[in-house]
Amino acid sequence: MMRYYETSKDTVLDLRAPAQIGHRSETKPADAPALRQNIPCFRPIIGEREIEAAVAVLRSGWLTTGAKAREFEQCFAALMGDDAEGIAVNSATAGLHLAAEACGIGPGDEVLVPTLTFTATAAVIRYLGAEVVLVDVEEGTRCIDLDQAERRLTPRCKAIMPVHFAGYPCDMERVLDFARRHGLRVIEDAAHALPTRCDGRLIGSWESDATVFSCYASKPITTGEGGMIITRDPKIAARTRTMRTHGLDRDAFDRFRRVGASWSYDVVAPGFKYNLTDVAAAVGVVQLSQAEVFQASRQRAAERYLEKLADLPVECPAPAPRGGLHAWHMFPIRVHEDAPADRDALIAGLAAEGIGTSVHYRPLHELSYWKERYGCKTGDFPVADRYFAGAVTLPLFPGMSDDEVDRVVDAVRDILE
Ligand SMILES: *Cc1c(COP(=O)(O)O)cnc(C)c1O
Repeated sequence: MMRYYETSKDTVLDLRAPAQIGHRSETKPADAPALRQNIPCFRPIIGEREIEAAVAVLRSGWLTTGAKAREFEQCFAALMGDDAEGIAVNSATAGLHLAAEACGIGPGDEVLVPTLTFTATAAVIRYLGAEVVLVDVEEGTRCIDLDQAERRLTPRCKAIMPVHFAGYPCDMERVLDFARRHGLRVIEDAAHALPTRCDGRLIGSWESDATVFSCYASKPITTGEGGMIITRDPKIAARTRTMRTHGLDRDAFDRFRRVGASWSYDVVAPGFKYNLTDVAAAVGVVQLSQAEVFQASRQRAAERYLEKLADLPVECPAPAPRGGLHAWHMFPIRVHEDAPADRDALIAGLAAEGIGTSVHYRPLHELSYWKERYGCKTGDFPVADRYFAGAVTLPLFPGMSDDEVDRVVDAVRDILE
C-alpha cells in the first residue's frame, strides 16, 4: 500500500518505507484483526531516491569518504553562505569533539553547557580532559540561560556550547555578544536545528567557531549515522579535516586522485577515525534537498498540536520568536504538576494506545556520571528539573498526518481530562 503526502507542487514525500521504526501491516498474518496503525515517536522518510543513490555508490567501487562526501559537504555549506565550509563526519558527537579540539579546548579549561541536552554535548569536553560547567535553561525556550552562564563563568572558561533545543533557535545575537565579552569560543550543537532560523538567518550561517549538525536516524535529516561540521574559520576547517582521518595530511581520496606517489602521506597528530562513508553521504545529499519540505511538514503537525492541546494541562514548546524558524525536530511537552495524571501515567496510557513517546532529556545533572563528577543534586537547576518532572516527547515526524496528530491529542485528552 502506498501513501503520498503532498507538501508542495514539486516534492512528494514517499511514506511507504518507514525505514526502521514502526510496523509493517503486510507482515501480519492474513486473519489477524485489523489493528489501527501504531504511531511511533519518530519515523524517518527514506524514499526511492535515497535508496538509488546508496546503491549507485555501492556499485561504484568507492565506498569510503570520496566524491559523494565532498558533494554532501558542498551542498550543506552552500546553504550556510559563501564563506562556509562543511566537514562531513560519522556522527555529531564526532563533529563536536573535532570542533572542540580544533578550538584548542584541553586540560585546565572549562566549557559552558546547558544541563538540558543529550550527554554527547558535554562528553566531548571530557574526551579532551577539560571540565564541563553545567548551566540551567530558560523557561519557555529551554535553551541555555545566559544570565546564569554569566554567574557561573570562571577565568578558566574557554567556550560555550549552545543547544538549539528541539529546533528552537537560541538567541544568537546574545550568545555571540556574550562570547565576545568574555573571550569565549562558540560551538553550536545544532543536532536538532535543520533548518532553524534566528533573526531570519539560518543556524549554521552565524559567526560562531563551528556549528555541528546530526544525521542520526531520528534527526531532522538522516544518513543512518552521520554529522556535519560547518565553520567559516579556515584553521578549524583544516584541523578538523586532518583529525577526522587519523591526523593524516592527506586522506585516501586525495591520495587516490594524485598522480605519482599515492602511497605517500604524513601524520601530523594522533587523529581520530571520524570520516563519513560515501554510501551515507549519498543518502545525505538527497535528504538535505528535502530538509525544508520535511520541516514544513513537521511544522504543520506541530501547529495542529499547539492548537488542539491548548486547553489541556500541559506546557507546549514555545513557537519560534519573531524572525525565527523552529525546526520542530520534536514536540516535547510538560505535564502540569496539578494535572490529573503525571508524566509516567501519560506515557503508559499512550503506549496502551499504540502511541510511542520518549523523554528529552533527563538533565545531565540527574545522570550518575555528571552528578558524581560535579556533585550536583536535584534542584540545582530548577528550570530543567521542573521541565523534566513532567516531560514527554509526543510523536512528530515529517509526513505525520492530521489524523495521526488527532489520535495522539485524543489519547492525551482521555488521560489528562
Ligand atoms: C543526537 C544528539 C547529539 C549526538 O548526535 P549523534 O549524531 O548521534 O552523535 C548531540 N547533541 C544533541 C542535542 C543530540 O540530540
